Amino acid sequence: MNGFDIEIQYSEKVKSTTLEVWPGNLVKVIAPIGSTETELQKIVSKKTKWIIEKQRLIKDVPVWREREFISGESLPILGREYRLKVIEGFGETSLKDDRFVVPVVTIENDDNSEQSKSELVKLSLIKWYKAEALNKIIPRVEFFCEKLNCNAKSISIKDYEARWGSCTPTGDLIFNWQILALPRESFEYVIAHEVCHLIELNHSKDFYRLLCSLGFETDETEARLKYYRNLFSNSI
Ligand SMILES: [Zn+2]
Repeated sequence: MNGFDIEIQYSEKVKSTTLEVWPGNLVKVIAPIGSTETELQKIVSKKTKWIIEKQRLIKDVPVWREREFISGESLPILGREYRLKVIEGFGETSLKDDRFVVPVVTIENDDNSEQSKSELVKLSLIKWYKAEALNKIIPRVEFFCEKLNCNAKSISIKDYEARWGSCTPTGDLIFNWQILALPRESFEYVIAHEVCHLIELNHSKDFYRLLCSLGFETDETEARLKYYRNLFSNSI
C-alpha cells in the first residue's frame, strides 16, 4: 500500500488513529480496536505527504538492529562504520587500520562459549567507546564554551536509556557515551545543546537563539535524534 511497509497495531488505549514513521520505509499505524482496514487505508492515503516529509527527514537514520559482536560486523563512530575483528588473546579493544581489534580469551569446554565470547567482546567495546567518547566530548565542550564565554563545572559520561545528555543547574554536563556512535552532526548538536544550557537552563527562544549562533539548524537535527537508539543495549 502506497509504497510503505505498514504495520498495524490495534490498541485499547487510543481513541483515534495515530501514525509513526520509522527508519526503513516503515509506517506504524496505531488504531483503536474495531477500525477497519478500509478506514485505515484512507487515513494513511490522506497523510501521504506528511509521511514522505518524515521519511525525508530520517532517510539517513539506519534501521536499528541488535548486534552479535562477531568478526565481520561493523560498528559506527560518528556515523562511519568500522569493521570488527575478534582475535584470541589478552588485551583491550583498539582501533587499528580502520578496524576494531578485540582480543578475547575463550574458555575451552564451555557450552555457551560462543555466547559468552560475544558478551566479552561487547564489554570490551563498551569500555573502548566510553573512554573514546569522553576523549572526543571534552574538546568539543571546551570549543563551544569558549565561543559562548561560559564554563562547565564538570564533564562526565553516563549510561542513559533514553536521553543523549543533560545539564544540571550547577553546571555539570553529563552525556550518554553512545553519542559517539551518532553521525558527527548529531554528536556536535548534542554537545552544543548542553553547553547552551549552561547559559539558558530551559528551551526558551533565547536558548534556541544561542544554538543558532553556534551554527545549528535545530528543528530537523533534534527531530532526527529521536529516531536513533542506543547502539549497545543497556541490559548488561
Ligand atoms: Zn535541552
